[in-house]
Amino acid sequence: MKENLHEICVVTYCPFCGKAHEIEVNEIDYLDWQDGELVQNAFPYLDADEREMLISGICPDCWNGMFGQEEDEDPDEDWGYNEDMGFDPYLGCYTDDC
Ligand SMILES: [Zn+2]
Repeated sequence: MKENLHEICVVTYCPFCGKAHEIEVNEIDYLDWQDGELVQNAFPYLDADEREMLISGICPDCWNGMFGQEEDEDPDEDWGYNEDMGFDPYLGCYTDDC
């Protein structure tokens, strides 16, 4: 009876970008895989990207990034104060008010 099978959501975390990815698999298949079944045999319905995420956590973006062009992720840290407003970080107040 296929209706009794549970779908579970496996969350993987990419070791490179840290993004979480959810992969829906059958609970029985997941247990088989944990028991040592090959991932391609346990989850024939997953595509290669999803299987890779189950094994290593590496998401398709990072996987492509390793073989494609290198993307330099440099998030611009913005400390949230705007010099145009006259805010003096040393006095901690707006110079117009002091
Ligand atoms: Zn990633």
